[in-house]
Amino acid sequence: MPELPEVEHVVRGLRRAVLGRRIIATDLNLPRLLAAPTPPTFKRKLRGARIDAINRRGKYILFELDSRDVLLVHLRMTGKFLCIQQDEPLPPYPHVVFYLDDDRRLVFSDMRQFGRLRLVRASNLHSLKQIEELAPEPLTDNFSLDYFLETLAGSRRSLKQLLLDQTRVLGLGNIYASEALFLARINPSKSANSLSKVRALRLHQAIRNIIQEAIAAGSTLRIDLTDGDSSYIGTSERFWRVYERAGEPCVNCGTRIKRIVQGARSTYYCPRCQRR
Ligand SMILES: [Zn+2]
Repeated sequence: MPELPEVEHVVRGLRRAVLGRRIIATDLNLPRLLAAPTPPTFKRKLRGARIDAINRRGKYILFELDSRDVLLVHLRMTGKFLCIQQDEPLPPYPHVVFYLDDDRRLVFSDMRQFGRLRLVRASNLHSLKQIEELAPEPLTDNFSLDYFLETLAGSRRSLKQLLLDQTRVLGLGNIYASEALFLARINPSKSANSLSKVRALRLHQAIRNIIQEAIAAGSTLRIDLTDGDSSYIGTSERFWRVYERAGEPCVNCGTRIKRIVQGARSTYYCPRCQRR
């Protein structure tokens, strides 16, 4: 599943590929991927709309249209965008096809079919529950140390589980949560409200560093929207410090990395560097 940095890459790739284009028509080949409105309304509202901006909030991709509607897309497990030329054949699983004014087609393809699309009025975007409840963007000033301290103080959950809660701390999935705790040298099982201010500061910094690092690592890759798998290179081929390295030596101290299960998800950590 793509994590926030990978979604950021997809957004940047989409900007390069389709920003400023108008949608001439839309084929909705798998209507159940559309959360709202109804398929006929969806197609009608998109007809002639120009893509004025492409942004991201959490893992939602936001196509901001000149019609003052916003197309929200969540990739979930396997959703991906491909941009193909007029004479190219459609890729496998062409679930939604947007015909663009330059004769190319933007295709949303989703093998596992968990992806979701929704069209909303721009003025209603921020009152949409799944957008409104998201924690501040991790690389903005809104994710301040004060905010983080308050969030920690209000939770008795383990740090690892708190970090996965996108309504509290945004941007860390299962991979980056383990990596951030390792960078900060903090035990993943420690309860959130027992973290000292000094260590909270270290974790706050580690969260930002790990997300910045992931975005930077991916930006050296060419995200080619005509090759559907390229947006996943960022996750699958990177070297992780602890993630999926159980039994291997810690990069800092050589101790074997341990795997534990927290909330039904695997956590990886160094029992020595992250003793407490
Ligand atoms: Zn270690």
